[in-house]
Amino acid sequence: MTAALHAVVAALDAELRTREIPDYGGAVNGLQLANPGEVRGVAAAVDFSRAAVDGAIAAGASLLVVHHGMFWGGAQPIVGPAYERLQRLLAHDVAVYASHLPLDAHPTLGNNAGLARALGLEPDGGFARYKTVDVGVTGEADVETAALAARASAFAAEWGHATRTTPIAAGRRTRRWAICTGAGASTDTLREAGERGVDTLIVGEGPHHTAIDAVERDVVVIYAGHYATETIGVRALAAWIEERFGVPWTFVGEPTGL
Ligand SMILES: [Zn+2]
Repeated sequence: MTAALHAVVAALDAELRTREIPDYGGAVNGLQLANPGEVRGVAAAVDFSRAAVDGAIAAGASLLVVHHGMFWGGAQPIVGPAYERLQRLLAHDVAVYASHLPLDAHPTLGNNAGLARALGLEPDGGFARYKTVDVGVTGEADVETAALAARASAFAAEWGHATRTTPIAAGRRTRRWAICTGAGASTDTLREAGERGVDTLIVGEGPHHTAIDAVERDVVVIYAGHYATETIGVRALAAWIEERFGVPWTFVGEPTGL
């Protein structure tokens, strides 16, 4: 079973609202590298990397779907590792499709919606606004914060990550939570959490000062791993492609430890 690359790309762009959703400069959402035109299999990876490229080739994939794409680090000369990656992709007719904030924000396939599901939480709204889009989700619960942190730990451990949290007082309960996967803890998200009555913020990672801000705003932050919290979207997207186009998919896991 094969599918036309242009048809797969058009379907992805429509589903993810690739043209409408704003993003950071290096994200370049959509098709980043073409191939001769056919998709036989799909490989999903969180990060564009040599390991992802080699994993895609080993799996016989002709489309690599990633969250952090080829141009993440900005414009760079195509030499050294960058040349090696590109050379191998071209030699094996592997196209690359990247989706960053469009995938974070997608209401069912997205990292944020998916992490809520994985933790048994039901979103009732958006969180972490970036320009015109809510990247994250928020909702109500009535659960011991330590129990919620344990769920996050169990989830992250599957992806090789040891979850950390800011201090959790004995018996503390989570009544309003918010999720922002990846580098989701920041001055902005902590301010938003404080303003919106969020008592528990679940993120991938964040700078050290976010743990201090959190205590002062009476918010518990659960750091479940940048990599771990962003394994969800690319896998959901690859499965979505298989459902619609009948081409098999595989996940190329390459935990970063962060
Ligand atoms: Zn990320």
